[in-house]
Formats: sequence, C-alpha cells, structure tokens
Amino acid sequence: MATASKKKTVKKSVSPKSKKAGFDPKEFESRLSPVQKVEAWGMNHFSNSKVFLPTSIQDFKDLFSYARDTNTKIAFRGGGCSYGDAATNEKGIVVDIRSFNKILSFDPKTGILVAESGVTIKQLWEFGIEKGFWPPVVSGTMFPTLGGALSMNIHGKNNFAVGPIGDHIQEFTFLSPDGKESVCSPKKNSDLFYSAISGFGMLGAFLTVTIKLKKIYSGKMKVWPVNTANLQEMYDYFEREYKQSDYLVGWVDSFASGKGIGRGQIHKAVHLKAGEDPDFPENCKLENQILPSTFLGIIPKSWMWLFMYPFSNNFGMRFVNFGKWISGFLNNNKPYQQGHAEYAFLLDYVPNWKFMYKPGAMIQYQSFIPKENAVKGFEEILSLCQKRGIVNWLAVFKKHRPDKFLLTHAVDGYSMAMDFPATKRNKSKLWELAKEMDEIVVKNGGRFYFAKDSTLRPEVYRRSMPKQNLEKFRAMKKKLDPKNLLESDLFRRVWGK
Ligand SMILES: Cc1cc2nc3c(=O)[nH]c(=O)nc-3n(C[C@H](O)[C@H](O)[C@H](O)COP(=O)(O)OP(=O)(O)OC[C@H]3O[C@@H](n4cnc5c(N)ncnc54)[C@H](O)[C@@H]3O)c2cc1C
Repeated sequence: MATASKKKTVKKSVSPKSKKAGFDPKEFESRLSPVQKVEAWGMNHFSNSKVFLPTSIQDFKDLFSYARDTNTKIAFRGGGCSYGDAATNEKGIVVDIRSFNKILSFDPKTGILVAESGVTIKQLWEFGIEKGFWPPVVSGTMFPTLGGALSMNIHGKNNFAVGPIGDHIQEFTFLSPDGKESVCSPKKNSDLFYSAISGFGMLGAFLTVTIKLKKIYSGKMKVWPVNTANLQEMYDYFEREYKQSDYLVGWVDSFASGKGIGRGQIHKAVHLKAGEDPDFPENCKLENQILPSTFLGIIPKSWMWLFMYPFSNNFGMRFVNFGKWISGFLNNNKPYQQGHAEYAFLLDYVPNWKFMYKPGAMIQYQSFIPKENAVKGFEEILSLCQKRGIVNWLAVFKKHRPDKFLLTHAVDGYSMAMDFPATKRNKSKLWELAKEMDEIVVKNGGRFYFAKDSTLRPEVYRRSMPKQNLEKFRAMKKKLDPKNLLESDLFRRVWGK
C-alpha cells in the first residue's frame, strides 16, 4: 500500500461506549487497523504500523490514554507529504488525522478561520478564494494538512516577505501526551506556541487551529519569468527584487557547470491591488482556478508521468533541464497573469509525477545557508554532486528570513531543495554524498529541514542548531512527554534519546 489508506483497511473510529465506566484499552485497540505499510512521500522509506483515524477531540484523548496505559509509541500523520520518515512509525501507531477535517468558523471581515488540524491547504484555498481570501503561506503542493504544516512550520515562495505559516497562526488548541489540553498563542502559553510549531509532532497533537487568511483582489497574479545565466545572477536578482515582490522562486539546472553553474529561471509574482483587476471577483471562482484534469484537453493529467518516464535518467534529465532553460529565453522578462493555484501548486499539475522515479524512489535534500555564504555554499554543493556523478533532477532556490520558532529551519538567507533519484544501486553513494553536502552546509552556518530530510544524522543536526534551542526543546519534551510516547522514525533517527 502506497500510503496510510483510510478507506480500505482502517476501521472507522467511533466514540467508545464505555466512557463513563472508564477507559478501556482493549476496546480502543479494536479501533486500530491491522499492521499495514505506511509509506514516506518520497517512497524511500516505509513503516509497518497500525493506523488510527481520529474524528473527534475525544478520540485524541483516548489515543493518549491508550498510549500511556500500554506504553505504545505514536506518531501523527497529516497528508503524508513529508519526503522522508517524519510521519512513519515502525511497530507503533500512525495517527492519520485526515478525517479530523472540519472548517469550524470563518469571519469574512477579518479573514480569521478556525479549523480542525486535518484540514488541508487545498480545503483552505478552495474555501477562501471565492470569498476573496488566500492562505498566507502555502507549500508547493496543496495536500498538506494544517497539523503537518504547523509541525514543520512550512514556508512558501514568500518566506522572505511573510515568514513561515507559524507567523500567521493566531491560536491553536493542543493536547499533550499527559492528556492536558491547552490554548496557545504568541501571548498565551507562548513557550509551547513557539515550540510545538516547528516541533515535528513530538510534543503533542494540534487539535484546532486559528489562522488569518490573506485578502486578495484578483484570482490572478502578475508573473515575470526571468532567465539567469548562473547562481550569482539568480542571487543578485533576488536581492534586487525581493522588496518589490510578493513571491520569488528559482528553478536551477543542476547539470550546468563552469561559468553557468546554477543557471536557471526565476518566477517573480506580485498580487494585483484593489481595483486593478476588471475580472474580479469572476476569476476567483473555483472553476477558474482548479487545475485542469487533462493536458491539452485530451490526455488525463494522471497519465502525464508516463510521458515523462522515458526522460527519467541522467541523460534525459540533462536534456529536459537544458530545454527548459533555453526555452525560457522565448518569454524572458515578459510578464503575464496566472491564477493563484497554478502559480502556487505547479507540481500538483502532474499528479503522481514522483512515479517517474520508480521502480526506485526519491529523496529531497533541502538545506538553508545564510545569505553571505549562500552562493559559494550552493555552488560547492552543485559542483560536488557533479563530481560524484549524482546530479539531482530538479532543484529549487528560495529566499528566507529568520523566525522565532524553536526548531526553525529558516535562516536569513537562501535554500536549495534538490530532488535525487534514490535506487538500491546508488543508495550508499547517495548517502555518502549527503554526508559531504552536510559538511558544506554546516561550515557555512546552514540548517536542515525535517520535512524534506531522509539522511541527516544526530551529530550533524546538533551542529547545525543553536545549543540552547535544542536544550529547551529537550526540556519541553521531557515535561510534556516524559515516557517518549510520541516518536516517529525521524525522531529516532535524528533526535535519538
Ligand atoms: C511536492 C511537495 C512540495 C512541497 N513543497 C513545500 C514547500 O514549498 N515548503 C515547505 O515548507 N514544505 C513543502 N513540502 C513539505 C510539506 O509541506 C511538509 O512535509 C508538511 O509537513 C506536510 O504536511 P502533511 O500534512 O502532509 O504532514 P505529514 O508529512 O504527514 O507529517 C509531517 C509532520 O507533522 C506531524 N503532524 C501531522 N499532524 C499533526 C497534528 N495534528 N499534531 C501534531 N503533529 C502533527 C507529523 O507527526 C509529522 O512530524 C512539500 C512536499 C511535497 C510532497
């Protein structure tokens, strides 16, 4: 089974009948699925786990009672969009929160929305856009849940301007493994607020989330595609333009070398201002935003990866990357208008594109380097990959700003996210390469991102983070979860005991 399937093998959770008579672990156990394969998004890892599907806050409370009574390890899972082992839990329970997914309230005057933590970014934007609102921060795919987004404190192509999603959360309710429910905001229980967001699901469960959506005045944005000759040029463009941009993202051709190292194409976008769009609000209608299900009106998008499959090798990818770069000159610097969903979720345009990596898998390696070292650090990484003969097929460059969250991955600098094919044959070489890249990141004062990680080791993670942040998180974990009931495979791999 590819992911934690909620329909086929999981028994629907129902509230226990015997609540008044006390909690019955046996009865709870009957609500768990048989052991099943739960897969990481990058298909590079899976766990054998029982799966639980909470639909109410009481279900989360019962879950923690069960874990305390039986000393069972649990890990939460949202959309399962983390590339590695963040939402898998070998021999334990995976708590698939996707059925805990109601939007509870919305104030159209302020854009403030309250939702259960299993609500996805897709639900958020589809709910908001016709009312003239868009989520303040979205990832490159629309399938993450609020719970997953907060746990990893996700960033968008606007991270340099608006910070991570945590900066837009007004409040959340939280259940820690001791069964204590708290309300957290930047002012109330602020320590927990700033630790749980970014805390990779290891402190407790997000129950409900209050987020402020962004007012928009058009269903479209103005977009500039800009070809750049190398990474320095891309960096210079970002530094020159970021104050005039709402979003900036750079695609990098990792096969280019020499003076062209890091060449690519930037997409800068700005929101249209009130009154600027004569087609507003018509172009905010869902039918004008939803990504089409066919390519050229004929080929189902879900088949598209099959057409890409012949290119899924180093030679093909070199050709595709070069073709993309060279064709960028055709419309270089010519602005056009593009729908929000199309700009934000380009990768969702080709469903199952990751199957291109089959029968192998993929890993993503995303590192963050302070701006003063970013160009030289990432150039060194790109050259190293070429030298080792393992070049990533897709690389994305973004600008970031620091934030106050305890385990934040963001720095005042840049990140490069690189998708590598991972096969049985190249695995040991790829992991060795990751070790070498880690050293480049650490020596340049950089950081890593749990949502994208598959290779990090505890000793490297410790060197990349401020000691006081790690100590504070460790103390928080000890206080809220002294028996380490919350453990994912990632936690055991990177954090250890
Ligand atoms: C194609 C693609 C593009 C992406 N682009 C971006 C991007 O641009 N920016 C970015 O930042 N990330 C990006 N990501 C990564 C993704 O946003 C994160 O991995 C995010 O955490 C996924 O959310 P999820 O709901 O799928 O959570 P999962 O991956 O299922 O879980 C992530 C973490 O959240 C925890 N968790 C889930 N629910 C709860 C809960 N209710 N309470 C406590 N903990 C919980 C889990 O235990 C786990 O540690 C991308 C991923 C993909 C596949």
